[in-house]
Amino acid sequence: MVISLIDTHAHLDMREFDSDRLGVICRAKEAGVERIISIGIDLLSSEAAINLSESNEGIFATVGIHPHNAKEAYKRDMSKLEKLASHPCVVAIGEIGLDYHYQLVDKQSQIRLLNWQLELAERLNLPIVLHCREAEEDLLPILTNWCAGGKKKDSKPLGVIHCFSGDLEIARKYIGMGFFISLGAYIGYPSARHLHKSIRQIPLDKLLVETDCPFLPPQKYRGSRNEPAFVKITLQALADITGNTQKNIAQRTTANAYQLFKLEVMD
Ligand SMILES: [Zn+2]
Repeated sequence: MVISLIDTHAHLDMREFDSDRLGVICRAKEAGVERIISIGIDLLSSEAAINLSESNEGIFATVGIHPHNAKEAYKRDMSKLEKLASHPCVVAIGEIGLDYHYQLVDKQSQIRLLNWQLELAERLNLPIVLHCREAEEDLLPILTNWCAGGKKKDSKPLGVIHCFSGDLEIARKYIGMGFFISLGAYIGYPSARHLHKSIRQIPLDKLLVETDCPFLPPQKYRGSRNEPAFVKITLQALADITGNTQKNIAQRTTANAYQLFKLEVMD
C-alpha cells in the first residue's frame, strides 16, 4: 500500500543535494511523498526553491529569511521577498522566526526581521513557516500580537511551527492561535523520549510531518543526509508513539498540509 504523504519542510536547494537532486525527488515519489515544500532561508535559496518548483511537479516553495541570516537582512530585502512571494508556486512565507540557541545574530535584529516578514505575510495573506529555538518567551507575545491584528481571524490556519520540541503547554498556545505543529524524525531519537507524552496529546488535526532535510536524519541514518523519502520513518514513529495507524496519521497530516498551504488536490 502506498500512503500519500507531504514533506512540509525540506531544504531541497541545499548543496547536499547537488549531486543527485532528481534521484532524491524520484525516491520521494516512490515512497509516496506526493508533495514537497522546499523552504527558503534567504533571498537566494528562496529563488532556488521557486526554480525547483517550476521545473518539478509536486514541489512547492516558501520564501523567507531565516533568523540566522538576520544580520545581513535589510528592509529593502522585503520588497525583493514580496516580488518572489507573488510567484504562483509560493505557498508560504518562511522559514522565519527566532533562534536564541545559537544566537548567531543579536535578538533585536532577529525580532526586527521577524516583524517585517510577519507584516509581509499578513499583507499577502500567506501562511507562515516558523522556526523557534529557545525563544518562546519572545516569540509567543509577538505572535499573539500579530494574531490580534488585521484580517487574520478569517484566514486560519495561520502557519506551522516546524521541528516542534516544546512541551504540551506551549503546543496548546500555538494551536490556540491557529498554528499547526510539525514533527520530524528527531521524535524517534533516544534523547527525544520526553516529548512522547506531549505528542500523544496533540490532536491529529493539528499535526504535520516534515524532514527538515538534509538535516535531522532518522536515528538509523544519523551522521548521513536526510531526504524527503524518509518522512515515512517519521510516520512510523508517530504511529508507534500515538498508537494510531500509519494510514490514519498519513491521511490526516496530508489533509492538514493541503489545507495550510492551499494546495490543489491531485487527480
Ligand atoms: Zn528548516
